[in-house]
Amino acid sequence: MKIICIGRNYAEHAAELNNPVPGKPVVFMKPATALLVNDKPFYYPEFSKEIHHEIEVVLKICKNGRHVQPEFAGQYYEQIALGIDFTARDIQDECKKKGHPWEIAKAFDDSAVLGAFVPLDAVDAKQIRFELRKNGAPVQQGNTADLLFPFEEIIVYVSRFFRLHVGDLIYTGTPAGVGPVQIGDLLEGILFTKEGKEKKLFSCEVK
Ligand code: MG
Repeated sequence: MKIICIGRNYAEHAAELNNPVPGKPVVFMKPATALLVNDKPFYYPEFSKEIHHEIEVVLKICKNGRHVQPEFAGQYYEQIALGIDFTARDIQDECKKKGHPWEIAKAFDDSAVLGAFVPLDAVDAKQIRFELRKNGAPVQQGNTADLLFPFEEIIVYVSRFFRLHVGDLIYTGTPAGVGPVQIGDLLEGILFTKEGKEKKLFSCEVK
């Protein structure tokens, strides 16, 4: 199983970190050891002083494939979840400055929070609304209608480089509003169904 992540996939988020809007998807990966499931707490790692939350819609790949053609890309996922791409922003800034890879800032243990999956037909698939709450207050609000590279384009692009396998996960990028977490924070991922109802898909306490 692999975890493929897309960076800078919402224009407002790219702008808040002073990054240009990319012409192609920005792709990185996390190993399976990054997964944090079942509402387990996140233990603040000793190597960073600036861990940021990034809530993202997560696709679960349901079909094996490579070089997926655009007209078939929609068949490669049937369920979505919400997750957090925890990022050691202080370390990422250093890596970026030096032109180094991001893994130690992005792919560390427990950096990929993953909530419960819901079937695609529970949501308005072209405009999925979601929110991250920190200690009860909304800090990030997203709508997948604003994705620079929609789900199908991501699948087409990444499958040129990496064979997709059933069970692979794709973190599709975070909307604006990223920010630091502190020990004691409670993070909750809220999805809005097509009827507009709130559904909490994960909660994660920072310890
Ligand atoms: Mg991210």
